[in-house]
Amino acid sequence: MADNTGRGIPATVKWHQAHSLSMQMRIGGAEMFSADERWIPVINPATGEEVDRVPEGTLYEVDAAVQAAGSAFDAWAARTPRERGMVLFRSASAIREQHQEIAKLLTAEQGKPLRDAVDEVRGFANILEFYASIAGALQGDLVDLGPSADAIVRHEPIGVCGAIIPWNMPAILMGWKIAPAILAGNTMVFKPASGAPLTCISLAGLMERAGLPPGVLNVVTGRGEVVGEGIVRHPGIRKISFTGDQETGDRVREIAGSQLKEIHLELGGSDPMIVWKDADIGKAITGVIKGRFYNAGQTCTAVKRLYVHHDIIKQFVRKLEDRVLHLRVGNGMDPSTDMGPLSGRAQLERVVSIVNTVESKVQGTILTGGKVLSGPGFGGGFFYPPTLVTDPVPECVLLSQEVFGPVLPIVPVADLETAIAQANATRYGLGASIWTRDLAIARKFFSSVAAGIVWVNRHVTVPPDIPFGGVKASGMGRENGIQAYYAYTRTKSLYIGW
Ligand code: NAD
Repeated sequence: MADNTGRGIPATVKWHQAHSLSMQMRIGGAEMFSADERWIPVINPATGEEVDRVPEGTLYEVDAAVQAAGSAFDAWAARTPRERGMVLFRSASAIREQHQEIAKLLTAEQGKPLRDAVDEVRGFANILEFYASIAGALQGDLVDLGPSADAIVRHEPIGVCGAIIPWNMPAILMGWKIAPAILAGNTMVFKPASGAPLTCISLAGLMERAGLPPGVLNVVTGRGEVVGEGIVRHPGIRKISFTGDQETGDRVREIAGSQLKEIHLELGGSDPMIVWKDADIGKAITGVIKGRFYNAGQTCTAVKRLYVHHDIIKQFVRKLEDRVLHLRVGNGMDPSTDMGPLSGRAQLERVVSIVNTVESKVQGTILTGGKVLSGPGFGGGFFYPPTLVTDPVPECVLLSQEVFGPVLPIVPVADLETAIAQANATRYGLGASIWTRDLAIARKFFSSVAAGIVWVNRHVTVPPDIPFGGVKASGMGRENGIQAYYAYTRTKSLYIGW
């Protein structure tokens, strides 16, 4: 095992330690370096500079984390849900006290504007509070089997669970996975993305200081193919909850499925937004701005395809373009920034390649944006402007692929049936929205669209109180709500003959 005495710690890590934010892996309540003593740099996407480094974990640390989680399990599972809920409450308070500090770290490693990072860290606390608030009301079932028998159905924790997330919303995605699992009495091995691990490590450290017992939540950093796959394969882990790319999800399903592990997958999305002719245009435009350009378009439930009723499309596009041209793109630490950079070079290159395809194959008209931002204020960073594409042809790549960046195709529609058919013409089925004042139209859309969540006059908002997840290629299982709590339990039935 690597020593943890502090020898050889890079200066950046020492800086964080001096500020009481530890950037090591957290296993069994202690900091842990990689057995290989190798590090992964965390790059600020607004500047290209190194923010910090985290240990490049190995299978040795995965195993150590599973052992720590296994050792902590019996005592944690033996506590009542209310006792576990109180730990979540205290953790939420500790995080709210330090949310500004953690938000700065989130902006530095991921790029989103600081005010959005503040909202995200508070959102993490809100998720813990939601699950803490339901703890006292959780019950099993008593089943009446007639005069000679009764049955009791208990919801018991599953055991050691593994959770793996991407880099786009580290605090929220971590909260969605760990809060219901921990409340249900499970212990966890958690892997953040290599591109944005710092926020997650800080949150885990604060939870431990707020009373989460050592070993209940273990954070292992490292490469997906090694640490991620190591978690999925480890025989000591009984459930895997994965958020990320569809291809990786397929692999996770194959490996975990072959070991009969429970599997929860949150994969990609290509959410449609329909703006009907009676919509409040101002609100719908604000909905598009937030829905597509929040987090530089790197959100699973971002508005990825916009369908506008042809009676209003001309004025809608004119007003939308005007709003888009006023969006300020820049370093998320600058308070005037509306949209930060993409999260890394690979993400930027992917967006550039997709827009190049649209241009070279004449698949649509680039109304605004469409070129990498460089020059003063952008040096070293991965900036791409908000981009609107009108008149996309039916085979336009923007309508068939998930684009994880600020590029929006706009399609005219004439009737609801066509709008619904186009909304459903994707392999994904995560979210969908319609903007209308007509309840009958909204109801028809809600009933007919293939999605796990449907909004009317909103998009993107996902409170922890309601279940969230996809259909079709967007995944299986649900985060959030009391449903996610039960998904981290197994029933055990007791039959009593009188
Ligand atoms: P990714 O699959 O490349 O990485 C996600 C995580 O999986 C990372 O932590 C990575 O290290 C790990 N990983 C990589 N290879 C692995 C392997 N072989 N075994 C186990 N783990 C492995 O995904 P990404 O490109 O970083 O994330 C973007 C994707 O995530 C998009 O498709 C987006 O829509 C999706 N996403 C979905 C949701 C949702 O709730 N449905 C939320 C956010 C993002």
